[in-house]
Order: sequence, then C-alpha cells, then structure tokens
Amino acid sequence: MRIEVDFARCEGNGQCVIDAPDVFELDGDDNLIVLNYEPPREHWAQVEAAVRSCPKRALAIAEGSEGAA
Ligand code: SF4
Repeated sequence: MRIEVDFARCEGNGQCVIDAPDVFELDGDDNLIVLNYEPPREHWAQVEAAVRSCPKRALAIAEGSEGAA
C-alpha cells in the first residue's frame, strides 16, 4: 500500500488523523503531515477508513506495492 494525497484538496480538518493517528498528523497550522506513505500492514485498516471518511476525497491508495509492505 502506498498513500497518495491531493494536497490541493486537503483542508486540514483532521478527520484522517482521527481515523489513522499512526499515519497522519496535523502540524500547528493544520497542514497535513503523512508520517509514513507506505505504512505497514497493521495500519492498512485505519488508512482505508481514513480514505473513506476524508470529506474532501483528498486521499487515495495505490495498490501497486501489495505484499511489499
Ligand atoms: S481528512 Fe482529508 S481533508 Fe481532512 S486533513 Fe485528512 S486528507 Fe485533509
């Protein structure tokens, strides 16, 4: 799994941080920080939840690296 972020869409509301706190973070200016663009398998479920719940549809998953996590 590799995370793709459309930063032009992201509005920094932090929904993804709530869903996947091991992977996403906001800095002091509410800018999104991705802690790990290729998270380990144990974090995939929370990343998938974050992708689904992002109100701006700014997150996507590239499936190309399946098995290489
Ligand atoms: S949930 Fe979406 S819009 Fe909100 S901070 Fe995360 S990526 Fe940005």
